[in-house]
Amino acid sequence: MSTTEAPAPAGDRQVPTTVDVVVVGAGFSGMYLLHKLRGMGLSAVVFEAGTDVGGTWYWNRYPGARVDVESLAYSYSFDPDMEQRFEWQERYPTQPEILAYARHVADRFDLRKDIVFRTRITAAHYDEAERTWTVRTEHEDAVTTRFLVMATGCLSSSKLPEIPGLDSFKGETFHTAHWPHEGVDFTGKRVGLIGTGSSGVQSIPVIAEQADDLTVFQRTPAYSLPARNRKLTVDEIAGMKAGYRDYRQAQKESGFGVPTAIPTKSVLEVSDSERNAAFEQAWESGSLVNLLTTYTDLTVNQEANDKAKDWVHSKIKSIVTDPRTAQDLCPEYPIGTKRPCLDSGYYETYNRDDVHLVNLQREPLIEVTERGIRTAAREYEFDAIVYATGFDAMTGSLTNVDIRGRDGTSLKETWSAGPRTYLGIGSAGFPNLFMITGPGSPSVLSNMVVSIEQHVDWVCDAVAHLRSQGLTTIEATQEAQDAWVDHVNQVAGFTLYPKANSWYMGANVPGKPRVFMPYAGGVGEYRKKCDEVAKNGYDGFALTA
Ligand code: FAD
Ligand code: NAP
Repeated sequence: MSTTEAPAPAGDRQVPTTVDVVVVGAGFSGMYLLHKLRGMGLSAVVFEAGTDVGGTWYWNRYPGARVDVESLAYSYSFDPDMEQRFEWQERYPTQPEILAYARHVADRFDLRKDIVFRTRITAAHYDEAERTWTVRTEHEDAVTTRFLVMATGCLSSSKLPEIPGLDSFKGETFHTAHWPHEGVDFTGKRVGLIGTGSSGVQSIPVIAEQADDLTVFQRTPAYSLPARNRKLTVDEIAGMKAGYRDYRQAQKESGFGVPTAIPTKSVLEVSDSERNAAFEQAWESGSLVNLLTTYTDLTVNQEANDKAKDWVHSKIKSIVTDPRTAQDLCPEYPIGTKRPCLDSGYYETYNRDDVHLVNLQREPLIEVTERGIRTAAREYEFDAIVYATGFDAMTGSLTNVDIRGRDGTSLKETWSAGPRTYLGIGSAGFPNLFMITGPGSPSVLSNMVVSIEQHVDWVCDAVAHLRSQGLTTIEATQEAQDAWVDHVNQVAGFTLYPKANSWYMGANVPGKPRVFMPYAGGVGEYRKKCDEVAKNGYDGFALTA
């Protein structure tokens, strides 16, 4: 796999032996945590596997990578001065622009001096007698801490396809989540790409522009909406900045962390022309959420969802000229139940003579060979293969670490039938262990910066509460956790989400339990619940002296 990550050196790192808080991960979660913890007068160290801050935006440097929530919304709200000063360029900025933002934040708050880079955490064990965690790194450092915060990201543990021969290919191979820092030149090359989730959908049009020939291997088609990306105007930026405080409040109270109009009608009660006009308007708006929030019932009622599904199918068929390719690009699962994509010229790309779609439902993948990829139908020869095959989402980066709580209980084993948390923040049996945007919280169903800030604030308030009350530990109770897990499942059951084989359900990883992992109740409602828990003395958590 081509990547320019230097092997982690063991020396020249300043690793403390004891701190108040260990944070794992220096993406948006870990960076904000460090800033807050310092402000509380606590000693904290952040461990990060990469060589700089940014997390997702540090790793995912594939061509076409960009955010799909608008820049002015996908940004920290905690520092109004920074909010005013930072100059976003595009409606949906590219990965370099977001990484530059993360670096700007690190510089502004001098964060790097307390971040140990190139250092993966391998284990964290709880000592019940001392009420501390001992955290171990790949370089065999050991740090003792009262509190451990896993800011390891929901989409940071990448996965390859489970087919034989991955190492036998003689050409170059790349994974979208480990893209070489210096970029890749596909000029004159025959490229094969596996995967048509958001990473594939964003990179396919850009790779197609450059490569001699591109073959896309699709197991499940995506629903993709046009981004209508553009440069932001001076007036737009000024308008947004002038109203930022109200906008931030609206984000916090919204369903997805992005304020949207609240629908009032069922799609089943309107005329065909009214429905078509509303969908057309949503399509043209260039937004991930507008289409699904046009009517009240699109995400909860199959018949209603079919209306949107059929409409998007007709759009795809109006763009893609080859009827068989167009049909292959039309998904059958309910729209919105796998994460939709936002693209720049995705469907149009299939009208190029040098781009080919292989439907893996018709000809399944068999193996990677020396020369390329073999399906049940034939062998395809390539100079380079791109894996846009996604992540072991939400749990992968937590269960990759050997986390052991009270009585040596392993988190991985405890979660073997699916993750179990209270509020997606803590798990019974693991005192003083916090997760940022963990399973059981809205996380990946939201604008994640909003959810990250909410979790970081909540966790820091909880730690401040313990300290002010002379308490030492906080741990989710089994009862509260069981009730929360039931609630999360019940809410998911009201929706169509469980109907798709999505990574939300763990369905993309063979052997992973099928459990709907995020909380579908909405960012605003969830925040109210978390605030209420804190106000009631951390109801559902056991606090000990
Ligand atoms: P991450 O950014 O994933 O950071 C976690 C960090 O932890 C990583 O740097 C990783 O190296 C480190 N780490 C993990 N395990 C260990 C370990 N054991 N030891 C040491 N370090 C470790 N969300 C949106 O809301 N809108 C979007 O448009 C959007 N676009 C996305 C595009 C891509 C390509 C991807 C992959 C995700 C996208 N997301 C988006 C989700 C995105 O992950 C979040 O928005 C956000 O960046 C997560 O920040 P984080 O700090 O929680 O996690
Ligand atoms: P993904 O959505 O999981 O897509 C992975 C793709 O690879 C899917 O099409 C999947 O098919 C396919 N695949 C996986 N294993 C395969 C196998 N063994 N054989 C054949 N095909 C296989 O991953 P992603 O595209 O990296 O995106 C993950 C998430 O990150 C997104 O949903 C989104 O939340 C975030 N993201 C956002 C943006 C953005 O626009 N801002 C960009 C990238 C990522 P199946 O569907 O059949 O499993």
